[in-house]
Amino acid sequence: MLIDCDAHISTPDCFVQAKDVEFNKRYMEHYQRTGHLRTPDQQRAEAESLGVTHQLINFFGTGTGLNYHLQRDNAVNLMQIYNNSMSTLVKKSDGFFSATGWLAMQDVDASLQELDRIKTLELFGVFMDDTIPWGRASWARPIFKKCNDLKIPVYLHFTKWDHHIDNRLDFIDYNNLKEIVCSGRWSSQCKTGEIDPFLCMFYSLFESNWLEEFKDLKIIIAERGVDWVRPFSDHISSTLNMNSLALIKKHFWFTTEPEDDGFKDDVDYIGWDKVLFASDHGHDADCGGANFGKDLETIKNLNLSQEQYDCITFKNFINL
Ligand SMILES: [Zn+2]
Repeated sequence: MLIDCDAHISTPDCFVQAKDVEFNKRYMEHYQRTGHLRTPDQQRAEAESLGVTHQLINFFGTGTGLNYHLQRDNAVNLMQIYNNSMSTLVKKSDGFFSATGWLAMQDVDASLQELDRIKTLELFGVFMDDTIPWGRASWARPIFKKCNDLKIPVYLHFTKWDHHIDNRLDFIDYNNLKEIVCSGRWSSQCKTGEIDPFLCMFYSLFESNWLEEFKDLKIIIAERGVDWVRPFSDHISSTLNMNSLALIKKHFWFTTEPEDDGFKDDVDYIGWDKVLFASDHGHDADCGGANFGKDLETIKNLNLSQEQYDCITFKNFINL
């Protein structure tokens, strides 16, 4: 058994009904330009050729134009279309694919309603941009609470900084946050700006009391590696006077970047029950999918125990 916990499929057909014609144009141009057009059958055949037996599909990315800048009604409409399409993909695949849904966070009420649909659509979880300091967005709290209550895992997935504009959602208080995060030397993988907006987001979750309050909240951090976790966790603990590692072990999972130096030591620290094999299949070299097919070899060459290997490659996902 080999479970791939983060992959992407381009699904232009799912936006055909969309009201926003301009959006459709951007979407198709994006896929034609990047060569990302790939059918689910092609995707599955490529994955199976590597031994993958199950693949989780995440939203393709804000570069498509589906993001928090979109006008509210269009975003809600596209959210429903996208999530319906993912549900159809999952149900047609006889258990090969699972998928996360996308939430139009610019409309809290619609997103709350959509979380009920996420359950009936049989989607695994939800995808959110990982560069917004959610813990400081009090208006987003009901959404995280509902994910907790309905036991819907949240993928906080790598999002490019250049798609980020501070004011794209309702006002978020950044006061001191960048300074706190920038006071050390750590950096998460794929940092693309002068500051590390992902670490600002991560820190903000510990500033809020959500992690203490929402006991069943499960968060998967995708494409950020794990080498930053130990030093940054120490920084959180000392600046917020808390045991952040205990909260990390309780609430967070991380997709593997096994080629990183010190990967085994870093996973020893956070726990072998916390890492998930992920190929990023569907993205090409321009977006981090260049390792497709190599990650598994890298993991095999790490001389892991059978238990560690099984945890990474399927057990941890099954236990989520
Ligand atoms: Zn990904």
